[in-house]
Amino acid sequence: MVYEGKSVFSGIAIGKIAILKKDNQSVKRTHVENVEDELKRVDVARKEAATQLQALYQKALQEVGESGAMIFEVHQMMLEDQDYLDSITNMISSQHINAEYAVAATGDNFAQMFAAMDDDYLKERAADVKDISERLISVLQGRDTSAGVGDEATIVVAEDLAPSETVQLDKSKVLAFVTRFGSSNSHTAILARTMNIPALISVDYQEEINGKMAIVDGFAGKLIVEPEEAVLKEYEEKRRQEEEKRSLLQELKGKENVTTDGRRINIYANIGNVSDVASVLQNDAGGIGLFRSEFIYLEKETFPTEEEQFQVYKTVAENMAGKKVIIRTLDIGADKQVDYFGLDKEENPAMGYRAIRICLKQPDIFKTQLRALFRASIYGTISIMYPMIISVNEVRQIKAIVEEVKKELTAEGIPFGEVEQGIMIETPAAVMISDLLAKEVDFFSIGTNDLTQYTLAIDRQNAKLDDIYDSHHEAVLRMIRMVVENAHKEGIWAGICGELGADTTLTEEFVNMGVDELSVTPGFVLPVRKIVREM
Ligand code: PEP
Ligand code: MG
Repeated sequence: MVYEGKSVFSGIAIGKIAILKKDNQSVKRTHVENVEDELKRVDVARKEAATQLQALYQKALQEVGESGAMIFEVHQMMLEDQDYLDSITNMISSQHINAEYAVAATGDNFAQMFAAMDDDYLKERAADVKDISERLISVLQGRDTSAGVGDEATIVVAEDLAPSETVQLDKSKVLAFVTRFGSSNSHTAILARTMNIPALISVDYQEEINGKMAIVDGFAGKLIVEPEEAVLKEYEEKRRQEEEKRSLLQELKGKENVTTDGRRINIYANIGNVSDVASVLQNDAGGIGLFRSEFIYLEKETFPTEEEQFQVYKTVAENMAGKKVIIRTLDIGADKQVDYFGLDKEENPAMGYRAIRICLKQPDIFKTQLRALFRASIYGTISIMYPMIISVNEVRQIKAIVEEVKKELTAEGIPFGEVEQGIMIETPAAVMISDLLAKEVDFFSIGTNDLTQYTLAIDRQNAKLDDIYDSHHEAVLRMIRMVVENAHKEGIWAGICGELGADTTLTEEFVNMGVDELSVTPGFVLPVRKIVREM
């Protein structure tokens, strides 16, 4: 039997299934005479729950680090939230009901309220408010809140997992997570990734699978229950190869990107959304070298608001805990079409109305994003980078808009931090005037995907020309060299964030050219580090 789902973290797991059943917390409504006593019970339970959360925070901090542990800080804060506590107290006082019932009802109300919000981040908080309410109820009922699986390591299958349940599980006993609900942005998914365990969501399983032998294929998003002998063999081999690859690379975590003769390079990671941050951290990237912010726009039916964007950038900055996060402004158009932008059909969209061209012609869209970025800048180290630049004039126009945005924020009393600003070098024009552009910006990041397309005059999407779309073309390599040299002459840094940056056959050449940073898919951070360290 094969169940299809959505993978939130790759890997292969083979083992027995254990369906995790939550104690059904049936909470009965009862009448209480002594309201004061009941309020005291809430107070005592709240303190106990806070202590438990603090302990969980410490445990998570050790096991999965700052970003994974943060959720328990959020829970502690929610537990202290005055509106939440007032609601519980008011119910008890006005209706003479028991504490358990007041907590359950308040939890449900708040969760519904969050779930109905437009903002994706706040939507996710519904699960958190339920989680803290269940904890409070468990404490009130004097029950143990630690979720348990048996002694044997198993594939944990559940309807959904609260973050506190995920982290309380003994990691050595969990082979994989499979849930019916949950989203790829949920903290559970993030934690699962950080814990380095394959995880699937949206799996519509049946209860009979409990206790059965199964395979979790975190690459294809499949749960294969009671596989045939040949399939099992095949997956055992796949798992062995994965483990070998991983353990070899794991040894490189925490190590510096330094050559044997002492030259250094930054290795950062490319991401498309918040949930990718976990694998950035897991692969020990030094920062985020390219956050393709257009994915925020692609996922929506209409323009994402300033607040929605702010929450995304803030979360990424916070999760990266001070490490550099380079966010690229909207790069819509060409291969990334969004209906609500109402863009005309063009003969040559790759050379058409796209990216910074849209932002400069429709500054309202641009300013919304810039405001969100600057607002988020106080939560970490954010840099902004502009795509598809062809002229100095464009950069000056951008700067003028940025100044307007900063002025507006200042006038509104909204704080923002120092933000490094750079441009992508992905057109031959930008390469040829990189000496002039270098005087205008703080850094360059070379987008070799587009640079190859425009230099070789080959549509990067045209499968027929795949064999001649050659990023190793001498023209492209010379351009990279030129850009790096011009950057250094003006004392700014230059990196590569196109796919070529992850090409380990060129790592040595890039380091020799003096490239300061390579930003690659998270899974390539350690392979590239390996090459650098062997140089
Ligand atoms: C590039 O063009 O190399 C790049 C990094 O940007 P994208 O692939 O998003 O166009
Ligand atoms: Mg590009």
